[in-house]
Amino acid sequence: MKNYLRAGAGIFALGLSTVSASEVQLRILETTDIHVNVVDYDYYADKPSVAVGLARTATLIKQARSEVKNSILIDNGDLIQGNPLGDYMAKERGLKKGDVHPVFKAMNLLKYDVGNLGNHEFNYGLDFLNESLNDANFPYVSSNIYLDDGDTNSANDAPMFDPYVILDRTVVDDKGQKHSVKIGVIGFVPPQITQWDEVNLKGKAITHDIVETAKRYIPEMREQGADVVIAVPHSGLSVETAKGRDENATYYLSKVEGLDAILFGHAHKVFPSDAYADLDGVDVAKGTINGVAATMPGFWGSHLGLVDLKLDVDSNGKWTVLDGTGSTRGIYKRDGRKKIALVDADQKIVDAVKDEHAETISFMRKAVGQTGAPINSFFALVQDLSLIHI
Ligand code: MN
Ligand code: MG
Repeated sequence: MKNYLRAGAGIFALGLSTVSASEVQLRILETTDIHVNVVDYDYYADKPSVAVGLARTATLIKQARSEVKNSILIDNGDLIQGNPLGDYMAKERGLKKGDVHPVFKAMNLLKYDVGNLGNHEFNYGLDFLNESLNDANFPYVSSNIYLDDGDTNSANDAPMFDPYVILDRTVVDDKGQKHSVKIGVIGFVPPQITQWDEVNLKGKAITHDIVETAKRYIPEMREQGADVVIAVPHSGLSVETAKGRDENATYYLSKVEGLDAILFGHAHKVFPSDAYADLDGVDVAKGTINGVAATMPGFWGSHLGLVDLKLDVDSNGKWTVLDGTGSTRGIYKRDGRKKIALVDADQKIVDAVKDEHAETISFMRKAVGQTGAPINSFFALVQDLSLIHI
């Protein structure tokens, strides 16, 4: 009888470990290239817009979170520059100690988990960047920017920012059981920032190749205990042969061992979408690049990016990624030339930045008034960001 029981218990235990103990769904949400568009407002046309604004993306974020048990939210940069609110904050109003940049008033409310730096973060200089970033209630990462130490030996270069973070999170499996999981998040910027913002970075910062940096840090993240590794390149997707120090390195990055998800950006395009359907190794139906689940959610808040991972954790706490998909959701759709809203703005986000928003509008009305009416109406039609600076 004793022996029989023992044998039975053995078979039962074997059954548990092979059939798999627990399946966990993890949803990773991404915003990118917000370019200071918090409010759903076109400052050039001086009227509301249904096609821009983190206030509208926020509604998608809340919906996407409510559908799942486990999610994290990551921003991929190009955050503090790119519209009149950004210029107003950096050049007109400034940030005094204790001031909170309006982008972080909004993002702190949305409880972001991690932020990554984009190339445009360096447009107003390092002092303004640091004064902005210290308002974030969440960590920032960037792995391929280093202090310029004046020598050519890259092996001893010191990172300027935290290259990655490993988040300790408690997640709930499909049976309602809790598990701890370590989620590693690593950020990348186009190496070209040292040329594009030479005035701000010369003698202070240098950059390394994105793929080389990934090969250095991803094994280290695994050694540090990361069960899941998410790469956040502020970098587009190109299948042209890599030349080294590539601006758009997401495709090459997808082939680096040890990655479970890629949240990318910089190109101001949407992935997955038909535009990428013909690329070798890309599955736009599933949202994968060389088998890695990936998303790129447009620009100015136009879309929310989603990566849905299906994970398995065994009784020893060992995690395996079983499957992953990438997708996006838009804040509006097109009907011919018309843009039709798919969500309302989150009023709490709009309210959080209402002072800076109102000040920017009066700043713009004053500034545009000096250039004359014909130029004003022309700008309003084309809405070109670089033209307005002339
Ligand atoms: Mn951008
Ligand atoms: Mg960019």
